Amino acid sequence: MSREPVPGELAEDPKLGELYRELQRDLEAAGSLPAIEDVRVAFLGRKGKITSLLQGIKDLVPEDRKRVGRLGNQLKGYAERALDEKAAAMGDLELEEALRREALDISLPGKCIQRGSRHLLSQIIEEIEDIFIGLGYQVVEGPEVELDYYNFEALNTPEWHPSKSLQDTFYIENPKGDYQDVLLRTQTSPVQVRVMETTPPPLYVISPGKAFRYDVPDATHSPMFHQVEGLVVDEGITLGDLKGTLEYFTKQMFGQERDIRFRPHFFPFTEPSAEVDVSCIICEGKGCRVCKGSGWLEILGCGMVDPNVYKYVGYDEESVSGFAFGMGVERIALLKYAVPDIRYFFDNDLRLLRQF
Ligand SMILES: [Zn+2]
Repeated sequence: MSREPVPGELAEDPKLGELYRELQRDLEAAGSLPAIEDVRVAFLGRKGKITSLLQGIKDLVPEDRKRVGRLGNQLKGYAERALDEKAAAMGDLELEEALRREALDISLPGKCIQRGSRHLLSQIIEEIEDIFIGLGYQVVEGPEVELDYYNFEALNTPEWHPSKSLQDTFYIENPKGDYQDVLLRTQTSPVQVRVMETTPPPLYVISPGKAFRYDVPDATHSPMFHQVEGLVVDEGITLGDLKGTLEYFTKQMFGQERDIRFRPHFFPFTEPSAEVDVSCIICEGKGCRVCKGSGWLEILGCGMVDPNVYKYVGYDEESVSGFAFGMGVERIALLKYAVPDIRYFFDNDLRLLRQF
């Protein structure tokens, strides 16, 4: 409401004219919707100045009543219109301001959300799985808490074997109150026995997973570690098949230029057994600190399945043959990425893990 001149008749009444001017002044000073509402209450509220004026008409002398009543209602009408107009204009203004204030600046760079990634060891396991799946193998899994039978006995590990000692294996107290039968598996091989029990040959499987041994943690040992073991049982499988398979795997995993060599070794459930070395990834076989000058790095153990194992699972040892191999996932990760200490994998230090 602009500062309009007081309409003629209102101006003639000193009290009403002054009320009109007061309303105009207050309304002009009101700079927000709540302030306008305060003015409305002050003039038109239950105890407002105009309301009181109109309520007081009945006490006036009769000759004033009609005139003041007419002018009072005229003033009330002016006030209502003026308040509404100002409130509407103020509302538009505030809305505009809010829109300006809350407007999105789409040219600002967004908040950077850190993306997680798979753990290096999970990536290595997946890589190994992919290579063998490509050769037609199936991935199988089994329990981490295992029976002695599957972890040792059915794998041709005799009662006296040192790996069965309390110094090497985590035994779990079983319902009978002794520590004889239940343990944390020391290898993922028991999965292979379980698969052979339920699946007739031919069999082409790998079993990735955690294994546990009573080791003091150091740069190359961890009481919990990961293995991938493989098992093939079919008719006419030879040592040549084993060597060809591992050669293919090694080149896929570490690069086409890698060579492998077999060194005779002993494992209870394979005969003959061998350890497999890959030509050093760091020095390309010339000899360095990592390979201790030999030019070779040990990466896995393997062998032809001992026919004794077939007896445990009901396979006909005369008609089938096969091979098995096992590798430590941490060791492969250490070699592939030249990580100096196995404990880094389990420290959950994001500065290391983010690099992979
Ligand atoms: Zn080397």
